[in-house]
Amino acid sequence: MTALELVDLGYSYGAKRALDGVSFALRPGRFTALLGPNGAGKSTLFSLLTRLFVTKEGRITVAGHDIAKEPRAALSKIGVVFQQPTLDLDMSVAMNMRYFAALHGISGREAARRAQEALERLGMAERAGETVRGLNGGHRRRMEIARALIHRPEVLLLDEATVGLDFKSRQDIVAHVHELAAGGLTVLWATHLVDEIHDSDDVVVLHRGHVLAHDTAAELRKGRPLADVFIEMTATGETA
Ligand code: ADP
Repeated sequence: MTALELVDLGYSYGAKRALDGVSFALRPGRFTALLGPNGAGKSTLFSLLTRLFVTKEGRITVAGHDIAKEPRAALSKIGVVFQQPTLDLDMSVAMNMRYFAALHGISGREAARRAQEALERLGMAERAGETVRGLNGGHRRRMEIARALIHRPEVLLLDEATVGLDFKSRQDIVAHVHELAAGGLTVLWATHLVDEIHDSDDVVVLHRGHVLAHDTAAELRKGRPLADVFIEMTATGETA
């Protein structure tokens, strides 16, 4: 069973068509990049995946649960890192984690155990006692990723998770999230930056609300720079 499947998904803002007939399924335990230029529809897609928006067009299934019919079951399988940070700066890393665990109905020793486990996965365990305000941008992002894993989701969604980070922090986050996928987590990573994508990753190219291609990066680029292929595809709007 695939962790996340989209079938014929559509969404409009009034007369503006943002997504049109979007279908793809993520392979379990893979890093899939949702690659699209600004305005492609990535944020709209994330809003639908997290039920911030709802649509009557098409279907989203998470770990076998239709998000429209069983929203709680479906959402319990999803971890999300939004583009805008949503951390409480004056709480410690550990408190932020426990607060989030409580939102998922996890408390006490179990919450502490899961917080520790999630922070360890992101190499953040030694910072548990620090306040978030004292962390640099890269560590804050890592913390948000750790937090998104506390309820042990099957799918991790990240919307342009490296925005505003310096080069080294960006590289670290990209490497960490690839490690999570290698450990069995299904990852959907929205980006417009081709250098965040490894050859072995799956790539869904989204442009003007349509899926132009879905393949591994190596297959898509066929020995050429991925940037060239991406620019070509999104300039012409043709399917590869
Ligand atoms: P991306 O995240 O890939 O940059 P978005 O999902 O934000 O793309 O936008 C997809 C399309 O929908 C764009 O053409 C954008 O201008 C339009 N759009 C996004 N939000 C709104 C809105 N609130 N009202 C009208 N149009 C919108």
